[in-house]
Parts: sequence; structure tokens; C-alpha cells
Amino acid sequence: MTELSIGQEVELEYGGKATVAGVIGSGGQGTVYLVDYNGMKWALKWYDISKMKDPAAFKNNIKKNISDGAPSNKFLWPRYLTKDMPDGTFGYLMELKPESFDSFVDILNTYRLRVDPLTGRAVKEPVRFTDLKAMVTAVINIANAFRQLHRAGKSYQDLNDGGFFINVDTGAVLVCDCDNIAPDGANFGIGGKPGYMAPEIVRGLAKPDVQTDKYSLAVVLFKLLFRGDPMEGEKVIKDVCLTEAAELKHYGAEAVFVYDPDNTTNRPVRGIHDNVIKFWRMYPDYIKDAFIQSFTAGLTDPNKRIIENEWQKLFVRLRTEIISCTCGRTNFTSMFEKQDSTTYRCPKCGMTFATLEFSNRDYRMPLYIGSKFYECEIDDNSDDFISVAGELVENKLKPGVLGIRNCSERSWNVKMPDGKYYDVLPGKGCPIWQGLEIDFGGVTAKI
Ligand SMILES: [Zn+2]
Repeated sequence: MTELSIGQEVELEYGGKATVAGVIGSGGQGTVYLVDYNGMKWALKWYDISKMKDPAAFKNNIKKNISDGAPSNKFLWPRYLTKDMPDGTFGYLMELKPESFDSFVDILNTYRLRVDPLTGRAVKEPVRFTDLKAMVTAVINIANAFRQLHRAGKSYQDLNDGGFFINVDTGAVLVCDCDNIAPDGANFGIGGKPGYMAPEIVRGLAKPDVQTDKYSLAVVLFKLLFRGDPMEGEKVIKDVCLTEAAELKHYGAEAVFVYDPDNTTNRPVRGIHDNVIKFWRMYPDYIKDAFIQSFTAGLTDPNKRIIENEWQKLFVRLRTEIISCTCGRTNFTSMFEKQDSTTYRCPKCGMTFATLEFSNRDYRMPLYIGSKFYECEIDDNSDDFISVAGELVENKLKPGVLGIRNCSERSWNVKMPDGKYYDVLPGKGCPIWQGLEIDFGGVTAKI
């Protein structure tokens, strides 16, 4: 392949030149360089075309993706193609990953390696989600990004742990390596990464498409929530030689989900899969059922796989059902006691939590200082899972008096303790009382 050197200029298809400033990383398809273009820093992905089946078709597909534009701002999308070098080599420019985002691989490893500029030695820095809410927000955003992509009629084809960057404070997600994305049904040679590929691809029966993306998506979500491999249990561990043939077996024709209710041959092994064993106990049944379906019926029947919109709804519910108690216990409501149909109780300290009922769903939101709901929850058409619409706060002047602050940009119509309705403007709040009703403009909530 044609390597680029620092200072080298690369011509872009629609004019101008990018100057190579450094190397960001390299992978199977080529190298990513840091470049200067029009006074800004960009990433240039530069291909090893000798590894491509049909470079011209691959390039045309990128060109089409550039003109279609990204499905949303959750993608580090190709922006500009370069001109071909005399030997036919080419690349494309994309925006740089912001500093505040970590790679999915580092998140799964729980650390990143950073080279200390003073000693030149690599040091481990911890990478962890700030809290449970940020982690669940990340899975919501991953599901949503693939929903947006599939709705645009395209498939990602190579969904794996190298495909995401995540902000561990907010749960914001950036999908990277968008160059294999193609119209559903088209494929330019990519197969996928072992462990993430749908069984029918492993077995050579199908090529990547929207249906196989759904399988890979379930694997990614499982890995983030349960910190383990959904198909690696006792059966796989016992198989001492993990050859290619064995891999074909355990991830293809004979794949068995570690928590398949009807097949116990591949359960997680204590001492090896402790994360999966611990977290499987913690999650509510509706989450576990969705993974069971994806990895049992969905193993062989792509139509049984959970669709992105369904994942999105399940995870929005999961985030709503987190309680952070003042005693320090933070967990899902399924790990708290239910005092009655509308009240939860902390099993550690006895604190009780009232709940808010929303008109657009059949579960209730527990109320505690700092509990939040988001734009997507008060507007069914919103794909904004990060912006806080309302937050439970304590009145600064009257400690112990709780209220909900309107953090959204529109005013709410709220029933106050005098029984009358008032407008609560953005930035203002309303007290929590037994007869509270809030109209967000379509969606309503009440105690
Ligand atoms: Zn407590």
C-alpha cells in the first residue's frame, strides 16, 4: 500500500489539499492519519486497496454516503473523498473524535493506555461510566443510532467493539468506521468480526444486512451491560482448542446462549464469567427476556430479533427505573422493595420513594432528589435521549420541600395545590403534592 509521510499533501476530489500531520492508528483496511485541511484538523482514512475486492465500487459507495449525509449527529461520517494516487490508492476525510469520548474497547477493558510524555511509558487510566444512568443512556443511544441508520435504508455490516466512541459522563455515542455502511442488500466484501457476526454469516449462509446488524447490535448491548460474551460459557471453555472450526461451531451452527432457559449446557463459569453472573441477577426480567429472545429464537430466525425501536423503549424504561437512594444504594427498581403499587422502599435504609405516572407508558418513574426525565420522554417524536426535560430538586429556601424543575424549552401546564392550573415556564418549578398533574403538551404525568 502507499504509506503517507508527515508533511505530504493529498489532493481532495473537490479541490484543496490536506496535509498529513501524524498517524492516529491503523487497522485491517488501512491507516488513519491526522491531517490539516482548510485550517482545521481532520482524520484521513487511507486504504490499502490491495486488500479490496472492488476498490471502484467501494469508493462509489463512500461517495454516495457522502452525498446522502449522516443519518444523525451520532455518526463520524465520511465527509470528503481524496483524489486517487497514480496507483489508485485513495481515502476520505472525516471529523476527529472529540477528546471527551472513549473507545468502546477501552470501556469494556475499564482502562485506556496513555503514553506519559515525560517518561515515554504507557500508563493505565481508568475508564468507567460516571453512573448507572450514563451507562444506560449509552445503550439507548447505540440502539437509536442503528434505528436511524436502518430507517435510512442502510446497514452497518461490521458492527463490533471497534465501532463506537462513548462519552462516559453523558452516555453520548459516536458511531465510527462508517465506510462499510451500504444500502441494505449491498455488500462490498466485509464479513464482520468473530463474536459479533450473526450465526448465518459465520456459517456462510448469508451476507451482512439489516437483519445481521440486529444480531450484532444485541451482542454489543449485551457486552456493555453484562461485561461478557453471550455465547461463551461452559461448553466453549471445555473446548480446549479454539480453532477456526471450533469457532464456527460455538458462534455458528451450535451457538448456545449462556442463559438459554431450555439449554443449560453453556452456563457462565464461576471464576471466569463472574461479571455476567453478577449482572444477570441485577437486571429486571424485561431486559433479560429481550436478550433471551435475541439469542435463542433470534439465533436461527432473524425475524425474531429485537428491533431497534423495541430496544430503545426497553432501555428508556430501564433508565427511568433507576433509584439513587441517599444511603448510597443505586440500582434498578427491581432491586428495591415494592411497598405498594406506587411506592418503592430501599431495602438497605428503609427510605420510601413515591412515583410519577406518565400517559405514554405503563411503568412509573420513582422520585428522588436528582431523578430526571428527558426530552424523549415528554415528546414521543424526539430522538434526544440526553437533554434533561425535568429534574427533581429540593427547594433551596425550604429544605425538605421537593419540586420538579422545568429544564425543557417549553412551558408546562401544571395543577397546583390550590386545584388550579398554571403555566410553569422553562427554568421554573412546581411543588410535588398528592394531586400533581403536568401537561407537557401532549404527554401528561401525574402522581
Ligand atoms: Zn437507602
